[in-house]
Amino acid sequence: MRIANKTVTATRLVKDALAKAKHFEDYNIFTALYEERALKKAAEIDEKIKNGESVGKLAGAPFAAKDNFLTAGDETTASAHILSGFVSPITATSVAKLEAEGAILIGHTNCDAFAHGSSTENSYYGPTLNAHDKTRVAGGSSGGSAVAVALDIVEFATGSDTGGSIRQPASFNGIYGLKPTYGCVSRYGVVAMASSTDCIGFFTRTPEDMDLVMSIASGKDEKDMTSLPDYYNADDTRGGVVDTACPSDTLQAALAKSSCSAEPIVSATPPLRIGIIKDFDNDVVDAEIRGALKKKCELLKSKGHEIVELEMPSLKYALAAYYIIQPAEVASNLSRHDGIRYGFRSEKSKNLDDLYGNTRSEGFMPENKRRIMIGNFVLSSGFYDAYFLKAAKTRTLIVKEYEEAFKKCDFILTPVSPNPAFKLGEKVNDPVAMYLEDLMSVPANLAGVPGLAIPAGETANGLSLGLQLVGPRRSDRALIEFAKELQDE
Ligand code: GLN
Repeated sequence: MRIANKTVTATRLVKDALAKAKHFEDYNIFTALYEERALKKAAEIDEKIKNGESVGKLAGAPFAAKDNFLTAGDETTASAHILSGFVSPITATSVAKLEAEGAILIGHTNCDAFAHGSSTENSYYGPTLNAHDKTRVAGGSSGGSAVAVALDIVEFATGSDTGGSIRQPASFNGIYGLKPTYGCVSRYGVVAMASSTDCIGFFTRTPEDMDLVMSIASGKDEKDMTSLPDYYNADDTRGGVVDTACPSDTLQAALAKSSCSAEPIVSATPPLRIGIIKDFDNDVVDAEIRGALKKKCELLKSKGHEIVELEMPSLKYALAAYYIIQPAEVASNLSRHDGIRYGFRSEKSKNLDDLYGNTRSEGFMPENKRRIMIGNFVLSSGFYDAYFLKAAKTRTLIVKEYEEAFKKCDFILTPVSPNPAFKLGEKVNDPVAMYLEDLMSVPANLAGVPGLAIPAGETANGLSLGLQLVGPRRSDRALIEFAKELQDE
C-alpha cells in the first residue's frame, strides 16, 4: 500500500481515489461517495503528519465498504430498495477499526441486494461491470468492492462472504479476496444474511495488504458474540525470525504458532502438503481453470511441496445443503423488514397487513423473495425434518470431512468457481445456474474454515482466473503468508 509512505499526502491519495471513482462511473461501482467527509479526514491526517503527531497504520489509505456495512449517518441499503432511505445510527466495528488506523472511507459499493447473488445483477442499482471486460459481470455479491480494488480506485475494500461473495468476485477481477475463519472479524454493523456462515473479509491487490488489513480488523468484539479472541495477531513474529529456509521465516512462524488454538493449525515444517480435491476435477469446471490448477500444482511440486489427492465425497452435497440452510437463515433475518422500522415504506396501504405486504413486495428484489419463500418452506413443520434437518446433518459431515482432510494436508487448493466471469444477463434469469456458481465456495462457509482467492493468470481472451487456498480454522495468517510466497509465479 502507498500508505505509511509519507512522500504523498493523504489529501492527494483521496483526491486521486475520488477522481478515479468518477472516471470509472460507467462501471457502476459505488452506491454513494463521501467526498467532503473523506477530504476533511485526509486534511486532518495531513495536519497531524505536519505537526509530527502519530498517525495510524493505514493513515490516508482510501478504502470502500460494501453497501451492507453500516456507517453512522449514511444511507446504507445493502443495495436493496426496501432499505432505501435508511440512515444508520451505528458504524460497523470492522469499518470503525480501519478508520481508527487512519483509513479513509470514500464510499459504499454496489452489491447484490442483501448479498443474495453471484453477479451483482440483483442490485436495486443495476449491475457492476467486470474490471477486465465490460460485457461481463463483476461477480458477486460483493462486485462493487472487487472492481473498486481491481481498477486501483481504492487500496482495499470490505466484503461479506456467506457462500463465496468475496472469493468469487476477487477471482473474476484478478485480485486477492479473503473469507476468514468464521468469527475472526466482527460482524457487528453488517446487514445479516445467513448468520451461521456470514464472514467479514477483504479485497486487496497484494497478500501483504491483506495481512495488514486483517491484522487491524480481526479480533474479539463485545458486540458480536460469535467473534473469536484475536488469534490472528497472537505471537506476532512479523519481521522477527531470521531463517533462510524455504518457505520464508514468516510463513514458518505463522505455521508453527497455534498458541490460542486448541486445534493443530498446520504442520510446522515445509515442504507443505497441498490437498487437491479429486471430486472437483470434472467437466463442470472450465478447461482453463483446470489448466490453471494443474499449472499451480506443477509449480508447487517444483518448489518441493507435496501434492496430496483428497477424496471428500460429502462436498458434492454442500451446494444443496447451503441452499437450504442459507435461505432458512435469510428468511429469519429478513423478517425484520416490514416497512415500520427501516427504510422504505409503501404508502399505498390501507391497513397494517397491507402495509407489510406492499412494502415487502415492492421493496424486496425477486431473488430476496425467492429465498424468503424457500427458507420458510424448509423450516415449516411439515418439511423441517426432510430438508433443514437433513441439510444440518450434511453440514456436520462436511465439517468432519475437512477435519479429516487437514490431517492429510496443510492447505487445500481448488478452483473458486466453475468458470471465469460470465456475460451480463447470461444467468440472471436462471437461479439454478447462478447457484451453481457457488459450487466450490460454499463448502468453506459451511465448515467455517478460511478461504483465500488468489490470482492465477488469465484466459486466452483476457479474463482473470483465480484459485482458492483453504486452510483449517484459524490458519488465516498462514494462508496469507503462503500466498505471499506464491505471488510472483
Ligand atoms: N452467491 C452466494 C449466494 O447467493 C453467496 C452470497 C454471499 O456470499 N453473500 O448465496
